[in-house]
Amino acid sequence: MSRFRMYPTREQAEQMLTHCAHARYVWNLAVEQHAHWRRWRKAAPGFAEQCRQLTEARRENEWLAAGNADVQQQALKDFARAKNARFTSGFGEPTWRKKFRHEGFRVIGTDRVPEHHEDGTAKLNAKTSKQVMSRLVVVQKLNRRWAQVKVPGCGWVRFRLSVRGKGAQLPDAKTFRVTFRNGQWHIAFAVIPESIPAPGTGEVIGIDRGVTVTAALSDGRTLNCPQLTVKERAQVRKHQRRAARAEKGSPEKAAGYAKVANLKAREANRRKDWCEKTSTMLARTCDLIRFEKLNIKNMTRSAKRTVDQPGKNVAQKAGLNRGILAQGWGLLRQRTGHKASGRVEDIPAPYTSVRCSACGWIEKKSRKSQADFACISCGFTCNADTNASINVAAGQGGIPRPRRTAGAGGVTTATSRSSAREPQPTWVGIPLF
Ligand SMILES: [Zn+2]
Repeated sequence: MSRFRMYPTREQAEQMLTHCAHARYVWNLAVEQHAHWRRWRKAAPGFAEQCRQLTEARRENEWLAAGNADVQQQALKDFARAKNARFTSGFGEPTWRKKFRHEGFRVIGTDRVPEHHEDGTAKLNAKTSKQVMSRLVVVQKLNRRWAQVKVPGCGWVRFRLSVRGKGAQLPDAKTFRVTFRNGQWHIAFAVIPESIPAPGTGEVIGIDRGVTVTAALSDGRTLNCPQLTVKERAQVRKHQRRAARAEKGSPEKAAGYAKVANLKAREANRRKDWCEKTSTMLARTCDLIRFEKLNIKNMTRSAKRTVDQPGKNVAQKAGLNRGILAQGWGLLRQRTGHKASGRVEDIPAPYTSVRCSACGWIEKKSRKSQADFACISCGFTCNADTNASINVAAGQGGIPRPRRTAGAGGVTTATSRSSAREPQPTWVGIPLF
């Protein structure tokens, strides 16, 4: 992703916040319209109809009319795209956007360039046989480090080119998205990432994602996603505590929360950077990349349940949820899929953590501890995460699961079903804040 940190002036930031407000307002209206839809009702309005409604709303609503029409229309387009992709995107139905939490807007390029077919001939409209024009974002490179982009109502806004070397070229994009989160502005250009060609070595790699080791590779490497350091975590706790104790509406409270937000932004930036680098490395060095199939959404589902039926270990589960989301498992898989398109597989892999990668025997007791695996059937010893990733690398057509005949494993009997269960989480003591 071409995503850069933006440094608007104070006036520009104010103007961009109003753009955010307009985009959020329009998006939420669209969400509400579609939420009213029931099977027996007429279809909810599509993009074209919503654009007509927007024009009407702008005529009546002064606040809306004062905003930029392109920004508002792009919010509708984003909504239409999110709605169409709701089954495939992994985000589900478009949901309500909240102030301070989901601040952002999309800008369509103002430059118009003639569109061409892949073979270089001009693209013509089928009816009028006129040249088809497409939009292009207006960007200017100032020097090696800085560039600027035109944002409606703000003029030129500067952003820092953080990618060195070859990657520092400015992207050719039709649109870009500006986001504001944790006190930082970012710009992301909508460019389809170029796929990295396979190295052709025939190397297949399996990846097991976990909480203690973010990604264990089947060649024995273990990769860890950087998190906040112990010192930084202590700072987060300190500022949270101070802010919580400060008087409501006081400057100390605001300053405390701003510091917490700053540290969280640092963590998120580190995580994103790590995911980009790791996914590029994987796409460059491996022909086939296999991830174990995880359902992160289910895994991080709240343990709270209902008032009548309270769940167990709510606090621990909440801690694990934070751990999982902080590890960036989903982002790593997504970015690897973009960069090594067609070379990534999701392997539904039950028992990967308790099955021996040498003989295929499934036995809970083989997993001696969080880190060690020692097969009780053949005596194979290995790091537990590496063992799991070798299982993933073998894929579905790997070692067949042995039948559980009496005495075959030596110690287990056919009735001991619990021994083949995945170990249940006992996640006490994970370093989280
Ligand atoms: Zn074994």
